[in-house]
Amino acid sequence: MLFSEVIGQTEVKQQMLAQLASGRVPHAQLLYGPEGCGKLALALSYATALLCKEPVDGAPCGRCAGCKMTAKLEHPDLHFVFPVPKSKEVSDQYMSQWRELLRESPYFDAKGWFARMGVTTQQPHIFVSEAEQILRKISLTSNQGGYRVIIIWHAELLRTEAANKLLKILEEPMPGTAFLLLTDRPDLLLDTIVSRCVREECKALSADEIAEALATHYGLSSADAQTVARSSGGSFTTARARVTQNGEEELFLDMFKLLMRHGFARKVRELQTWSEQVAEWGREKCRRFLQYMHHVVRESYIRAAALPQLTYTTPREADFLKRFAPYVNERNVEGFLAEIDSAMRDIAQNANPRMVFFDLALQCLVLVRK
Ligand SMILES: [Zn+2]
Repeated sequence: MLFSEVIGQTEVKQQMLAQLASGRVPHAQLLYGPEGCGKLALALSYATALLCKEPVDGAPCGRCAGCKMTAKLEHPDLHFVFPVPKSKEVSDQYMSQWRELLRESPYFDAKGWFARMGVTTQQPHIFVSEAEQILRKISLTSNQGGYRVIIIWHAELLRTEAANKLLKILEEPMPGTAFLLLTDRPDLLLDTIVSRCVREECKALSADEIAEALATHYGLSSADAQTVARSSGGSFTTARARVTQNGEEELFLDMFKLLMRHGFARKVRELQTWSEQVAEWGREKCRRFLQYMHHVVRESYIRAAALPQLTYTTPREADFLKRFAPYVNERNVEGFLAEIDSAMRDIAQNANPRMVFFDLALQCLVLVRK
């Protein structure tokens, strides 16, 4: 992530760049501000700059080996710490889900993260085992011979015991180590932690900043972008959630239509290409797509059974369902749902998504003609 990719936050960016250019890098910084204002995006840009091998006036070059590793979230000296469900667990155990979510966008909230981990009941925290892990990590020399950066996301969820352990490192800074603590609730942090950090306040984004980003990243018309931006309360996370949820459903519907069209026409080669495309999405998105398929099949069946008052669909779906519903009937509805459930289990158990979706596609080919 480069500073130019961070939405708004001009003032904070300028301060950070001045700091980087002068080489006066604080060993601990606290970025605080409301949800969705871009603290994680700022922290990532700052980390990219620190790990860049050829920075220009403090800013990362975006081309060197360091920048490339950071862009892929695979730099060995960039460490992420975030809340996890159980006290014996550490962030590293959830790194693949974390990278997946972060690659989609650095604008997401704790709720989005907990959902991605599959946590619904517990309140995740940053536990003392995590603090011990950090201590171990920074006792080793950095992999690439430069800075080590530790980003602590939702630092207010540090358990007291963990915070006290960290306090010791913050009191006796290690050279070449930079801590970035992020929070939207600085009031919940221990005073002793806060007092050891250089504080950077990040403000809520303006509606214009959000609208511009929506138009750039999601291709919204300026009128639509303004409407969404004005009701997002200064949070790009909120704005993005509104836009992408609909965006994802449209994509899912298109892919579902393709599956059925190719299946009905018995186009096996096209079905293979289709499964490869879906498999590219990664496990989590595949899982959401299967849930979506489940929803569409169910809605189609209810519609076919002439109980439209029970359906819950978007206008675009409704239009498709009108034409698709006749193909879902009592002879195949259970088959469809069972195949989708079985694919969902296979995906959860780390089966190869290409195989899972190709197999599912072939089953659909048979079922759609029943
Ligand atoms: Zn670089």
